[in-house]
Amino acid sequence: MNRYGVFGNPIEHSLSPVIHTLFAKQTGLDIQYDKVLAPINDFAHSAKSFIDQGAKGFNITVPFKIEAFNLATQLTLNAQTAGAVNTIKVNGSELIGENTDGTGLVNDLTKNLGIDLDNKTILVLGAGGATRGILLPLLKQAPKRLMIANRTTSKAEQLALDFSSYGKTCGFGLEKIKDTPVDVIINATSASLDGQMPTIANGVANDAICYDLMYGTQTPFMDWANANNAKMVVDGLGMLVEQAAAAFEFWTGKQPNTQEVIRSLRS
Ligand code: NDP
Repeated sequence: MNRYGVFGNPIEHSLSPVIHTLFAKQTGLDIQYDKVLAPINDFAHSAKSFIDQGAKGFNITVPFKIEAFNLATQLTLNAQTAGAVNTIKVNGSELIGENTDGTGLVNDLTKNLGIDLDNKTILVLGAGGATRGILLPLLKQAPKRLMIANRTTSKAEQLALDFSSYGKTCGFGLEKIKDTPVDVIINATSASLDGQMPTIANGVANDAICYDLMYGTQTPFMDWANANNAKMVVDGLGMLVEQAAAAFEFWTGKQPNTQEVIRSLRS
């Protein structure tokens, strides 16, 4: 039996063991997947002892994604551009760091929701770790333009600059969002965690696809999108399952049926 797990602090809330156990059942693999509560200042030691116990790989969630980036001995392009690692594969003495968050979001949008991002105008709210992780996979879909708007303007400007070689990007403050519609809005701020919605021009949501990375509850962003004539309003549960599926495939080479798992979690 191969052993995997997820590191975080806190970790009790994590749905990853449920998701990976369903994937294993679907694909006929015999795996053990644990939640590991690592001490805030001792992630590397915890991870090494998990590897010494024979683990083949693990996921990493808040607040250890940057420490996992530093622990990896090799990085995929997704991980390099994200500056953070959410998946490590143990390959002999090599620890291969990947970031599957952006692949998860893009697969949910394109495969599960049937949204074609090619030549579309995308507005991303927020310029934190999640935004850094989703930008490259979004830009690979060849959108017409990808705008990053953030409360702290300089962070949005910096991200737009960092990713400008992968597509047409621009960054500005939330107050600069125009009152005219875009095709897709992605809320990658953590405002929903505090029950808040940043104040932005309402007209931008008209007929747009509005996607909140947060999941598990109807968020203020989703309420705002519904109130402002959005075409489709979605939470981040599909992304959570898809990023897990990309990690599962990275470790095992097997592609699980994500729609079945998303349906099961929603019910
Ligand atoms: P970070 O802490 O790295 O970044 C937070 C971002 O939110 C910053 O840009 C910050 O702006 C902005 N922000 C916070 N509060 C407010 C507010 N009240 N008004 C406006 N902007 C605000 O968080 P992450 O990037 O790691 O996570 C963002 C969200 O994505 C979380 O809700 C997380 O749960 C979700 N997520 C979901 C995943 C999934 O699988 N579905 C995967 C990964 C993340 P500033 O720079 O000005 O501080």
